[in-house]
Amino acid sequence: MAKSQRFGTLAIHAGQEPEETTGAIMPPIFQTSTYVQPKLGEPKGGYEYARVQNPTREAMERNIAALESGTHGMAFASGMAAIGAIVQRLSAGDHVIYEENVYGGTHRFFDKVMRRFGLDFTAVDSSDAQRVEDAIRPNTKLIHLETPTNPMMKLSDLRVIADIAARHDVHIVVDNTFASPYNQRPLELGAHMVVHSSTKYLNGHSDVVGGIVVTNDDDIAEELRFLQKAAGAVPGPWDAWLVLRGTKTLDVRMERHNANGARVAEYLAGRDDIDRVFYPGLADHPQHALAKRQMKGFTGMISIELGSLDRARRVVQKTRLFSLAESLGGVESLIGHPAIMTHASVPKEMRDRMGISDGLVRLSVGIEDVEDLLEDLEQALRS
Ligand SMILES: *Cc1c(COP(=O)(O)O)cnc(C)c1O
Repeated sequence: MAKSQRFGTLAIHAGQEPEETTGAIMPPIFQTSTYVQPKLGEPKGGYEYARVQNPTREAMERNIAALESGTHGMAFASGMAAIGAIVQRLSAGDHVIYEENVYGGTHRFFDKVMRRFGLDFTAVDSSDAQRVEDAIRPNTKLIHLETPTNPMMKLSDLRVIADIAARHDVHIVVDNTFASPYNQRPLELGAHMVVHSSTKYLNGHSDVVGGIVVTNDDDIAEELRFLQKAAGAVPGPWDAWLVLRGTKTLDVRMERHNANGARVAEYLAGRDDIDRVFYPGLADHPQHALAKRQMKGFTGMISIELGSLDRARRVVQKTRLFSLAESLGGVESLIGHPAIMTHASVPKEMRDRMGISDGLVRLSVGIEDVEDLLEDLEQALRS
């Protein structure tokens, strides 16, 4: 598919051709574990075994690679499996710098699992690029960023950190799950890899767990393809197909998530019974200027400080359209309490340092009619 096409067109067409036998316009779900070889040592089209090759998965990988301005996409069974594969490229003795406010599961994986394999990790506040540079050591191989962060909506300046990484010959990976490629394309800003939990905005319908890494670097892609085969954390064809169906509407969904998110954030910021609203699209966000430079829109993700666990508990149990659940990025609105839910695995002193208080509540604003969402929040906050 031609590179010059625009995002909304790529979302629907990139990576997909009509199926050869029938012309089926949707890529079929190749629900098979193996492929019959016409001659010994000459598998048809290179297809041998489904952990290594699957046409449905490949269509999804090509599609998302195009959306991220990348040339290679490697899909995994979950966002964590994708992050795992990136770290499995490293060796004992290597050092990784990561943003301290990353997804709770990422912190847990680095700290509780990969440390045992002899990798060393340093968590830094990457909203200050100088701190990233100061943390670089001779054995630093990877900088793992997430912007905006979950749930504090803190940003990192990708262009500036990419320059630092280039000077020190270190790779950067950006977890772009929160922004989605509609709003932010880290490869265009100098990142070497983009990783997603496709469970979230990419799939968008809360019915799949999946992950993907996108890169423009042929060597990185080859290593990650090897890890798909050698470690084996690949998605099944049915899940790949659902994600591919989801990305067809990514353009229109994100437009609406952005619009609804902005309306809800403004409404919340206008209330005097909410201590703080964390949303990069608000003019009083400390990094609003960077947000406008680096992102096209500001998503449906908003965090609010309600002052106490009591009030937070009342509100998350009172909303009706906003369902109390983990995860984000689906068409339906969700509400959650990071300290008790998504970030329970982060030690309390680290949560306190980052501002993940007991009064903090996170919203994933869906694409319902925004007036209904505002009415729902109004009744829950007034209770
Ligand atoms: C959910 C999430 C992950 C983990 O992805 P899974 O698909 O749940 O394994 C990683 N990073 C971010 C930012 C997430 O929101």
